[in-house]
Amino acid sequence: TGLQNPTANSIDTLSQHFPLCMQHLHRTLRANSHLKHFGRLQYTLFLKGIGLSLEECLIFWRRSFKLITDEKFNKEYRYNVRHAYGDVGGDANRRGRGYTPYSCQKLTTEPLPGPGQTHGCPYRTFAPDNLIGMLQSVGVGDRELLKDVREDVKRQRYHIACNRVFEHGHRVQLKRVKDEALWGAAELDTILHPNEYFKRSFLLGH
Ligand code: SF4
Repeated sequence: TGLQNPTANSIDTLSQHFPLCMQHLHRTLRANSHLKHFGRLQYTLFLKGIGLSLEECLIFWRRSFKLITDEKFNKEYRYNVRHAYGDVGGDANRRGRGYTPYSCQKLTTEPLPGPGQTHGCPYRTFAPDNLIGMLQSVGVGDRELLKDVREDVKRQRYHIACNRVFEHGHRVQLKRVKDEALWGAAELDTILHPNEYFKRSFLLGH
């Protein structure tokens, strides 16, 4: 499982490096064998951004939607995945490229998800108690950290909360790359994109 060549089979393992927005989508998908439209779009573009090929992405979604037939999948879902990758539809500009994975800026300002929808940034879309519960469920349990996160989201500093969680979770590795000057300033700057979060987390390892 490399950063260069992720496959449908490697997503479960790689998801440990996903930011909370994408972990939430992944866990919902695994729990329900389904995701609603905007969640699918957000997640598809993120997976494209981590380097998952269109073919592997289609395999990923087909296998994940366990409860439906191939026929239904092909009719209702396949097109949207291909569209996101620029394989079909879109204007001439997007053909062959498709759509760009969403940034934190977009995900923290777009219209809030409705009932049953799971897209967006959880630091913003979740009620604070639910957010804390979710962080604990993915292994973020430090009380001081969670207190600071609560304060961040109260002030609507969602990406600051997310960066705080990232930095705490990788504090040992980050100390090392700083001490040994392995990363430049840009690589240590505030994370503003879910794909950047993934990239850094993956490179730092565990
Ligand atoms: Fe995802 Fe960005 Fe929100 Fe973090 S701040 S959970 S990366 S949208």
